[in-house]
Amino acid sequence: MITDLVQIRRLGEQKRGENERFRRHIKTHSFVERRLRHIAEETEEAIDCTTCANCCKVATVTLTERDVTKLAKFLRIKEGKFLREYTEQSEEEGLILKRDEDTGCVFLSGTECTVYEARPATCGDFPHLVRGAGSLQSRTWQFIDRACYCPIVYNTLEKWKVETEFSPSPK
Ligand code: SF4
Ligand code: SF4
Repeated sequence: MITDLVQIRRLGEQKRGENERFRRHIKTHSFVERRLRHIAEETEEAIDCTTCANCCKVATVTLTERDVTKLAKFLRIKEGKFLREYTEQSEEEGLILKRDEDTGCVFLSGTECTVYEARPATCGDFPHLVRGAGSLQSRTWQFIDRACYCPIVYNTLEKWKVETEFSPSPK
């Protein structure tokens, strides 16, 4: 399994075209979703997110009202103060956690989430392979970008290709 983040970035970018074809392959063929989930679970278990935290550095985090309430309570501050100090509005994604281009999420310290117990729902579900809204097929569009920075996604896609007998070269 590949976990080196430089390699993941290079291979994920290199395989963008292939992964786009794989996405169409998954959407147009029938497969046992339970089996694919099981492969994703095994990959998640084999990779230690606490030494990686790359998603916290790279991805934006969208917030629900529930997330705001939970985080403000955890930090023992009013929701208004939380919104002013820790969030911003994104044109495409709505309310998101503040982030820095170099260091990532406002709550990341090294590779540690300082609000882990109250982290937003989307962080708990990340990388949305095993958990997430909708069917696995409906979420596959997200996996192409994520395969460029998340070792769990990159390795899972590679295993899924074998499982679903996907042919990597274009026909
Ligand atoms: S979910 Fe992926 S990117 Fe995030 S910490 Fe785990 S392996 Fe790294
Ligand atoms: S809230 Fe925590 S888990 Fe979510 S992106 Fe920030 S540091 Fe990572």
